[in-house]
Amino acid sequence: MKQFKYIPPYLSALLLTVLCFSAKGQPDFSLSNGVYRIPYTDGTDVRITRDHLNHTPPGRIDMIGINGAAPYKIVAAGNGTIRHIDDTHENVDCDGGDCAPCNNYVWIEHPNGEWTKYTHFIKGSVNALGWEVDDVVCVGDYLGNEGDIGCASGDHLHFEVAVPDDINDPFDPVGGFINGVNLIPVICGIDGNFFTDDSEYTAGPCDPVDCQADLSLNDVAFPNVFVHMATNSISSGGASTVTTGAAGLFQAEGFIHLSPDFQVALGSEFNARIGECNKPVWEDVANCPNFTGPDPPGIAFPPGQGSGILALYSQPNPASDELAVHFRLPEAGAYRLDVLDVQGRLVRSVSHPEMNPAGKYTLELKVTDLEPGTYTLLLLAGKESGVERFVVAR
Ligand SMILES: [Zn+2]
Repeated sequence: MKQFKYIPPYLSALLLTVLCFSAKGQPDFSLSNGVYRIPYTDGTDVRITRDHLNHTPPGRIDMIGINGAAPYKIVAAGNGTIRHIDDTHENVDCDGGDCAPCNNYVWIEHPNGEWTKYTHFIKGSVNALGWEVDDVVCVGDYLGNEGDIGCASGDHLHFEVAVPDDINDPFDPVGGFINGVNLIPVICGIDGNFFTDDSEYTAGPCDPVDCQADLSLNDVAFPNVFVHMATNSISSGGASTVTTGAAGLFQAEGFIHLSPDFQVALGSEFNARIGECNKPVWEDVANCPNFTGPDPPGIAFPPGQGSGILALYSQPNPASDELAVHFRLPEAGAYRLDVLDVQGRLVRSVSHPEMNPAGKYTLELKVTDLEPGTYTLLLLAGKESGVERFVVAR
């Protein structure tokens, strides 16, 4: 279990009034690397009451469940590990009017280094579900019930994505305020992929952000927040300008072309990333299967390892004589594992054409006969495939 530093009571008392009304550190208005889902149970209608600009302090999101029956159920926005739970408070102002010590909140650490916070739970609604610190949670897991406990006026969910400056001291335990920076959450399945004030959405499981192969953006007036992702390339043609106060993201797997008269104004945040078109946070934890299959006995997946639906992962890397290849089958079926050398030649193949049950698998591969170098593992299972590279060194 992680130990967090605690501020002595006399010091925290001094900080309370400050923390209740101001941010520790200003948000830098970068967009999150991870793609998150709307943190309510599937089918819940949600209204954004304060987006990242209008929230006090900025960089966080307030939202409420609507059109249904309270209490609305809050779910994890991505796969991760619970790092803090406090749902012991019952009143908005529990300590002579200071709201921060009364915050009921959960922090989840995600494998990509980003953390999400969920605040104002109804007393006991997290513990009633059996959650404990260090539990792995999977996207969509029910965390607790929307309430108005702590620095809140009325039932709502306070949601934020943040990166702590120091994971040994990620937040102030009084109120749970981040010691780090907040990021604008990139959300799947909604217009523009970010929350805006007064917009209404329906929560649900979502596919990764729909990425076109190529995006060509000519003479675009960039709005306050923009997210453009492409599988191959993004081209900014024409004299487009990212204006002061805007925060934006170009993310493409292959190329980003900025035309000579593309401008980014002082006071804006513009991110150009070469990387996977979208990086759903829910694909990053091998312990979060999208399947219901038993784990073979004795196989423990390293938490936070493996990616993609097959969670293909190998160790050690580099390997000298033996390589353990871990993966999971989302559904029963045949699988085949190929090993390719750097020229793409097949050097090993393990085939299991029979009906294998869904679940987690580990194959031990001898690599003593392989020359030192880089190799590719290609796993084929049903309509899924996974790729992982490993190095042989001696
Ligand atoms: Zn809030």
